[in-house]
Amino acid sequence: MGDDAAAIERFRALLRIPTVSRSDPAHEDREAFARFRAAVAGLYPLVHQRLELELIDGGSLLYRWPGLGTGRPSVLMAHHDVVPADEPGWRHEPFAADVSDGRVWGRGALDDKGALVAMLEAVEARLRDGFTPAAYLYLFSGANEETFGGGAEHAVDLLTERGVRPGLVLDEGGAVASDAFPGLEGDIAFVGVAEKGLAGILLTVEKPGGHAATPVRGGATTTLARAILRLEQHPPPARLSAPAAAMLRAIAPRARGLQRRLFAHPVRYRRALARALARRGGEGEAIVRTTRAVTRLTGSAGDNIIAERATATINARIAIDSSVEQTAAEVRQAIDDDQVSVDVQYGNDPSPVSPSAGPEWDRLVGVIERQFPQAIAAPYVMMQASDSRHFARISDTVYRFLPFELSAAERGTIHAIDESIRIDTWVRAIAFFDALVGEL
Ligand SMILES: [Zn+2]
Repeated sequence: MGDDAAAIERFRALLRIPTVSRSDPAHEDREAFARFRAAVAGLYPLVHQRLELELIDGGSLLYRWPGLGTGRPSVLMAHHDVVPADEPGWRHEPFAADVSDGRVWGRGALDDKGALVAMLEAVEARLRDGFTPAAYLYLFSGANEETFGGGAEHAVDLLTERGVRPGLVLDEGGAVASDAFPGLEGDIAFVGVAEKGLAGILLTVEKPGGHAATPVRGGATTTLARAILRLEQHPPPARLSAPAAAMLRAIAPRARGLQRRLFAHPVRYRRALARALARRGGEGEAIVRTTRAVTRLTGSAGDNIIAERATATINARIAIDSSVEQTAAEVRQAIDDDQVSVDVQYGNDPSPVSPSAGPEWDRLVGVIERQFPQAIAAPYVMMQASDSRHFARISDTVYRFLPFELSAAERGTIHAIDESIRIDTWVRAIAFFDALVGEL
């Protein structure tokens, strides 16, 4: 127990350092990032001494732990930047790392310092015991994951140059989730085998403006509004992808009645399942199709001015069998109006799909099911983009899993107020990384 208490103090010390990523890097506190790196070196002296460290772009950390042999190296990753905690209403100061009600509170407790520090605890203890991994083990911690910065991409460039071809790559992703799926009992450990793509698409309508006292029918805002409605009325096709089918098959034993029968034979019932999930909306719908959320609207600058230019921003999350290009084409087709221009502002295609079978999958899932015996593991497609997508360039087996047991309410605090983790959950994550490192 004394060990755990000391580990928790180290965790709190790192949570207190506000390594906040901002969309404008000029507003970032670079000194906080430097302090964070120094604190990691001080708190984990064996990691610092025995592993070779390279600083990528002046901020992201790439550690290399030489192994005994020349087998496929592995990569464990967890970013150390966090999203801002500026919104009011936190029960505990977001960078105070308070301990109360058996939890540690603070921005980054779940996303993703919780995993990083648990990993460092496990590696430090293994080093203390004189353990050496069978093959090279890399630890990577991005400093700009939340803003889609270049840290991970440049680390992968470097590894590519050196001819490093990792086997297992593990990053944040699914968790050991209770109440994950309506009607399902027990915990499911969701292991991300792919992530959806992302695109920002701008719709623009330009028409003559004028004084608001004498509007003309079909102005810019009306045309834009009609386009937005059509987007919702003509969603992209709903399809059950191979990893979604594999997920349903894996969780079937936890379902009952008709649902169990359908989940157990997802290929046979793929059309019915795709329709049913799409109808559910929210997370169900996001599993089976590209989603499009209209997040921002602009019109004129004044109450009494008719807009000459109206815009809408679409945030699209792209299904794994689609692409940025196809998504833009589907948007144009749904709107079907050449008065609306459709421009892709940024985007990345979905990641490749890692197999939910084979030696790396079996090794990871073996550790998960031993450490969380109440859970069954299931592959799934992550909706968010993570640093790990870059590693798909050099590894066919990239998995996304956060070794935390989390309820839906707890998962809901990620990127929101009151982010916190149960202390016993975090301590079990150290045991998970310890067991995993022991296998590498
Ligand atoms: Zn994260």
